[in-house]
Amino acid sequence: MARTSKYLTHPVFNSYHSETEMLRYMTRLQSRDLSLTHSMIPLGSCTMKLNATTEMIPVTWPEFGHLHPFAPRNQVAGYAELFRRLEAWLAEITGFAATSLQPNAGSQGEYSGLLTIRAYHHARGDDQRNVCLIPSSAHGTNPASAALAGMEVVVVACDAHGNIDVADLRLKAAQHADKLAALMVTYPSTHGVFEAAITEICAIVHEHGGQVYMDGANMNAQVGLCRPGDIGADVCHLNLHKTFSIPHGGGGPGMGPICVAAHLARFLPGHVVVDGVGGAEEEGAVSAGPWGSSSVLPISYAYIAMMGPDGLADATKFAILNANYIAARLAGHYEVLYVGASGRVAHECILDTRTLKPFAEVEDVAKRLMDYGFHAPTMSFPVPGTLMVEPTESESKEELDRFCDAMIAIREEVRAIERGESDAQNNALKHAPHTAAVIAGAWDRPYSREQAAYPLPWVKERKFWPYASRIDNVYGDRNLVCACLPVEAYA
Ligand SMILES: *Cc1c(COP(=O)(O)O)cnc(C)c1O
Repeated sequence: MARTSKYLTHPVFNSYHSETEMLRYMTRLQSRDLSLTHSMIPLGSCTMKLNATTEMIPVTWPEFGHLHPFAPRNQVAGYAELFRRLEAWLAEITGFAATSLQPNAGSQGEYSGLLTIRAYHHARGDDQRNVCLIPSSAHGTNPASAALAGMEVVVVACDAHGNIDVADLRLKAAQHADKLAALMVTYPSTHGVFEAAITEICAIVHEHGGQVYMDGANMNAQVGLCRPGDIGADVCHLNLHKTFSIPHGGGGPGMGPICVAAHLARFLPGHVVVDGVGGAEEEGAVSAGPWGSSSVLPISYAYIAMMGPDGLADATKFAILNANYIAARLAGHYEVLYVGASGRVAHECILDTRTLKPFAEVEDVAKRLMDYGFHAPTMSFPVPGTLMVEPTESESKEELDRFCDAMIAIREEVRAIERGESDAQNNALKHAPHTAAVIAGAWDRPYSREQAAYPLPWVKERKFWPYASRIDNVYGDRNLVCACLPVEAYA
């Protein structure tokens, strides 16, 4: 059985032989990443909140981390208890009857939820119900999951305020009444607003025989205050790696469990190897593991257990307060694209950077933020050319103010271009981000090195040096650029 062929021949596997060298190599890679260890990551829709050390330590315990997903049930009684409690808590938080911990991501939760809805329709003899209504503001995973689940996507329009166009929804639901399977809806909407018509929207879908799938990615604005089940949804997923503190952003394991109303519980995904998983009429598994990426579940378990009901509700209130604070502090500098009837946003807000045109593009603002030591907010989703900011409850007022100061300073840099004081192309925004090599190299730009690298006084204290200058995104998307050894090296 001994292997005779060569393996791991790339120099990266053969260059670091001592622990010190390995440590330095890994730290060098780490230092190229602008992460939560540097500053807030205001990615709208992504909920980049605190991943508390206390929550994460159990992942390293062999009792959780070393168990095989198919270990005999009598060896995993503690894990089973954790699943039971977590399922019950999540059901309570969402106002539903049952939970499946099997899906590994929000998108997989969408897929599983839609399969559950499909199984429900089939069980009632409604085999023809395969139309899925999706508002134009939806996350791209919604139509993708609907297509994977074998459904036909029908898009519902949004009105000028970013809300679902209820008249259009009524029309499309009636038009497709015999074939209507589901509506996928995000609440608060991906426009960052508590949609006032949400209960009416759910009722319209039910009237026409459809089920309501709530995309729970925005649960950080609901937990402890309101519940999808009470609003009228039939199933929702939870992104445990967003709302419930599992770290994400590096493509590591997340979890996207679904919670369902009582009439859907019997169709929850089962498992071929492990008995006793899912509903009585399950139609198979959606993941290889019976409880998905179960080793990260202790993180969300610890989060909920330590926060308690009042703490969870407080977190939601602070998340909403923080987003509204940013919207209010940036007023007069950036327009907030959508607000609710009260003039407020939910837990995130969309800044309309299209108003900066033709002097600056959204990408200029996003890249320039890196010079100030911030990760850009979500760019061009759900509205092209805008930035969506979600501070979460985890950030202090000082950090929110630093972010707002940076955004306001960038707005001033755009104003200087508008007034003709800065060159339209050769300016700090268009050249952002500035690497140390660029700052230290030959300098013939009309703005100073200081303005480029240390645009505000506090940046000196905590300077993050971007590793690469502006890259050509479109070129990168269209051309495969391999970081491996040249082909000749393998000759
Ligand atoms: C993040 C997100 C998803 C997808 O979740 P993943 O866990 O990334 O698959 C779906 N909808 C919305 C609104 C989201 O923000």
